[in-house]
Amino acid sequence: MGKLLSWIILIGLVWAAIKLLQISQRKREAARRAAADAFGDGAGTDEAGSGAGNGTGSGVARKPFGESMVQCAHCGVFMPRSAALPHGDRFYCDSEHQRLDSNRGT
Ligand SMILES: [Zn+2]
Repeated sequence: MGKLLSWIILIGLVWAAIKLLQISQRKREAARRAAADAFGDGAGTDEAGSGAGNGTGSGVARKPFGESMVQCAHCGVFMPRSAALPHGDRFYCDSEHQRLDSNRGT
């Protein structure tokens, strides 16, 4: 009977580990979505499927208050619009990322 009990405990532990993983993944996704909502990113399209790598989207985001925030189209970091380097309809956190992204093509 002891063997059966240990199997039940093992299965329970595996199940709990899977559940915890699912919950943490869901939380992370919800937090990311909430952040996108808070910034009012109208693009809404996640470029994860395009294989672009960092999937930064359109890069332009707006805060509900204060100065508007923009996202570096290369590394995805957020910064005030006044501190960003505009390039077409995209923004970059520094000239290096602007250069790297323009070398990449589109
Ligand atoms: Zn950057």
